[in-house]
Amino acid sequence: MTLVVSAPHLSAQSSSPIGFPESVHLTDGLQRRVDVMLDQSRTFRAQCQRLAETPQLYVRVRTDPSIDAKPRYFHARTTINRVRGGWIVALVDIGATGDPSEWLAHEFEHILEQVEGVELKEGVERSPGVWRTGPGMYETARAVDAGKTVLEELRIAAKVAMQRRAEPPRQRAHDGGTLTNLSRRFSK
Ligand SMILES: [Zn+2]
Repeated sequence: MTLVVSAPHLSAQSSSPIGFPESVHLTDGLQRRVDVMLDQSRTFRAQCQRLAETPQLYVRVRTDPSIDAKPRYFHARTTINRVRGGWIVALVDIGATGDPSEWLAHEFEHILEQVEGVELKEGVERSPGVWRTGPGMYETARAVDAGKTVLEELRIAAKVAMQRRAEPPRQRAHDGGTLTNLSRRFSK
């Protein structure tokens, strides 16, 4: 069975590998971004946890500059094959430009759908939350939502980090001084 699912091109904006699944193989320098996602997005961590718990799974993720060519129909694409012995082989290609975070989370969700046995085939586009985007290609609301949720979590984390950096240095020095005074007082 070959199944192709893709992330549509929507105009809408869209160092510690904590439990990253051994079954997922990243190429092309995606690891650094994935490490940030693991650190800052609980939804992405949950996705990785579930992939790590899935036996007989092989995932390859790479960037593909041809996806960025105009006209652009999608940001990423995953081809999922069920092979003999029950193994699921997922080949994920992500556009080489821009932030891949949303598309990584989006495609990981498609893999989880197939791990769960969600049916995507002719006629299924009449189901709620599933639509056909081309011959043998499907989109699901669930994957779209997962990508957007992870992106939002990363945005919030980045905003919090920026606010912390923007604190006036004088304020920080003052706080430090207070703490020092306190610790001196307590140490007597
Ligand atoms: Zn998709």
